[in-house]
Amino acid sequence: MNQSFKSGFVTLIGRPNVGKSTLMNRLIGQKIAITSKKPQTTRNRIQTVYTDEEKGQIVFLDTPGIHKAKNKLGEYMVNVAERTLNEVDVVLWLVEPTNYIGAGEQHILEKLRRVKTPVILVINKTDMVKKEEILSYIDTYRKEYDFAEIVPLSALRGQNTEILVDLIFKYLPYGPMFYDEDTITDQPERQIVAELIREKALHALSEEIPHGIAVTIERMKERENGKLIDIDATIICERDSHKGIIVGKGGNMLKKIGTNARYEIERLLDSKVNLKLWVKVKKDWRDSDFLIKNFGYREDEDY
Ligand code: GDP
Ligand code: MG
Repeated sequence: MNQSFKSGFVTLIGRPNVGKSTLMNRLIGQKIAITSKKPQTTRNRIQTVYTDEEKGQIVFLDTPGIHKAKNKLGEYMVNVAERTLNEVDVVLWLVEPTNYIGAGEQHILEKLRRVKTPVILVINKTDMVKKEEILSYIDTYRKEYDFAEIVPLSALRGQNTEILVDLIFKYLPYGPMFYDEDTITDQPERQIVAELIREKALHALSEEIPHGIAVTIERMKERENGKLIDIDATIICERDSHKGIIVGKGGNMLKKIGTNARYEIERLLDSKVNLKLWVKVKKDWRDSDFLIKNFGYREDEDY
């Protein structure tokens, strides 16, 4: 066994839209976390595994954003995120390049002041600002908290991301591999497929249907000849009027969502896919404990 091999858990926090999923995708080089211009598409903890045969293995947890809960689903997401902070070896906090620390960031700072885990501040989206401004952003944040490291980078362009990996290893303990080298994520395929459909729906729909949709996979089965996978999925929304919008005129919107999702699922599964989509209304599902569990967001599931 390689004595200098390190391994540990890292959690990624930050407000919606700061680029958490983009950074994960960049580091792992494969689309497993879902990115969207609309916030909060990542609801489950996605474990992503980064393995370097020489240096070690980093298990990333892509947590839901830490924010004030507005309903039961929100509460659930906040709990998962907060608990994780104390259980990991390193916390990565992603922020945007700005000199203004808003209420959302203050909220996160309060949480961080209560944990002992080393925190690496990542100032993302540096491609959007002038180089000479970056020092002032670093300064703004340094005044607020004693960060283990501060790393400016661009997840989108892949600038400085390698340095981040090395700095993470600096804070990990020596230890064995937790996962096979070729493991990238432990998220079951079904869940990834559901998230992909949800992502395509959010992209296609207007702001009228913000986050009140969920996707369930009823069936996912490979045909006997192995050439086609049949997938039956249901988009669940909160109101009849939303259902109308999701289905669209003559079923146009649903067709568009289905076509876009099928294209990506085929790439992901490397197979032809026959995707059937349905739309169902379940009122106030976000406030229902039963439905939250039914959709697979469970608090007691641990790694
Ligand atoms: P999340 O909600 O934190 O997971 O954020 P996403 O990864 O979904 O990213 C939100 C938006 O920010 C997307 O449109 C990304 O393309 C964009 N984005 C992420 N990283 C960067 C970056 O380094 N530079 C720029 N310009 N945009 C970025
Ligand atoms: Mg995300």
